[in-house]
Amino acid sequence: MTETATQKDSTRDPIKASEIDPRFKYELVKMHGSEKILKCFQCGTCTSDCPVARFSDSYRPRTLIRMAILGLRERVLKSDALWLCAACFTCTDRCPQDVEVASVIRVLRNLAAEKGCVPQVFKDQAGSVLESGYAYKIPELRAKKRESQGLPPLPKGNPESVRKSLKGVKFLETVEKKGESSGK
Ligand code: SF4
Ligand code: SF4
Repeated sequence: MTETATQKDSTRDPIKASEIDPRFKYELVKMHGSEKILKCFQCGTCTSDCPVARFSDSYRPRTLIRMAILGLRERVLKSDALWLCAACFTCTDRCPQDVEVASVIRVLRNLAAEKGCVPQVFKDQAGSVLESGYAYKIPELRAKKRESQGLPPLPKGNPESVRKSLKGVKFLETVEKKGESSGK
């Protein structure tokens, strides 16, 4: 997902005491992937080595980790920045405290998705997978071009099989859930 002029950067808004949920970090340490989050000492290595942060004004993994530890549950889970991570695991490899940063981001995304806070672009993509078996709708023009080049037709997608596989991970319910924040 690319940044847009309308995208919120809630990571920089002033913090209100009422936003802080001190239980959040204790919930995170019980989840697979974010067990070591409290070891973060905010050195910033994850952000300085992150290839996405290099090109983004709003994506800072160190900030997301800090916000999560502070207990800014709603703000983190509704943050558009959360969805910019490319899951390259550079941060995890380089964290001097062995915090599995990329996995923490995954955990936060899963929690966000459970609340229906998923950017529309991913909902659309997921909807396409469920509908056609493909992440993107293949344009008719592309199919004709293949034919003109003597290439065989693309295999038919199998959305039924996709739906069946994804039922066990509550994917359908998540995609169909409406986003809680206005921007998603
Ligand atoms: S590299 Fe590790 S210790 Fe440093 S800020 Fe990132 S998560 Fe925290
Ligand atoms: S996994 Fe995500 S946060 Fe970590 S370095 Fe890669 S893009 Fe950045």
